[in-house]
Amino acid sequence: MDPFVTLAVFVFGLIFGSFLNVCIYRLPRGLSVVSPGSACPHCGQHVRPYDNIPLLSWIILGGKCRSCKGRITPRYAIVELITAFAFVACYAQFGLSLSTLKCAVLAFLLIGLIFTDAETHLLPDKMTLPGLAFGLVISFFIPVNDLASLLLPGVFHLPVSPDFSWRLYSFFDALLGAAVGASFLYGAGAIYLRWRGVEGMGFGDVKLMAMIGSFVGLRLTILTILASSLAGSFFGLWTVLAVWIKRTQRRKHVFHESGPAARKNAWASAQVALRRHQMPFGVFLGSMGLMAFFFGEHLLRWYWGLA
Ligand SMILES: [Zn+2]
Repeated sequence: MDPFVTLAVFVFGLIFGSFLNVCIYRLPRGLSVVSPGSACPHCGQHVRPYDNIPLLSWIILGGKCRSCKGRITPRYAIVELITAFAFVACYAQFGLSLSTLKCAVLAFLLIGLIFTDAETHLLPDKMTLPGLAFGLVISFFIPVNDLASLLLPGVFHLPVSPDFSWRLYSFFDALLGAAVGASFLYGAGAIYLRWRGVEGMGFGDVKLMAMIGSFVGLRLTILTILASSLAGSFFGLWTVLAVWIKRTQRRKHVFHESGPAARKNAWASAQVALRRHQMPFGVFLGSMGLMAFFFGEHLLRWYWGLA
């Protein structure tokens, strides 16, 4: 890794992270991400160019607006840093290549979608649909190397040159990942709606999974869904336990209930809290999708090596 290129990639990541912050705030509100320029969310004061330097401005101003001293969420600095590190990770894994571009685009979109979902419970089409299109198109140039590429060439020969056939197989793989990922989430959402009577997953999650599938192919799509469900379940369980313990304490000390009664009543209210609480599942899909893209291949190889 060339240190100068690494630094350049890092700064590039900071700038793209800064643009992501604009997208995270504006896309769910239906605003343009191009104009007007950035303004303070509290006083509306236009942010001056020298106060708009990624990461540095936030640190120098201590997370506050220069005019009104209103608090600027650390999310701005966090998103910029994560994007910068993700871009460096792409460069470390793939060098300066088209694969790095694919990796960086996926990281950029997923970081944006994770934070948008966490803040607004929305996954904007303006990120997922262009992402899906990019994933399908780039598969013609970067092999997805999944089941279609592994199995189809042995089954039948396409009447095209070998150089073009791998591109078609790779495209099938991207298509398969997108289709299976989307159907899986759509099916799970329909079952969840019947079972719990509330919408657990929306079409945003379906489109997000289609996008991830087009980048990673079928096997890593399944891995992403499994890992997300597991992470989501742990998070849900942890939330219920935390609410239960907190409310038991409150019932004991504020309402002076006996231990067993406090535990029983707190358990009932923790259940209600879980039912009302909508989990932003896109956060899990996005982060596990990114994990699968970086480490999934190694994990699968390790797993098949053991089994
Ligand atoms: Zn302000």
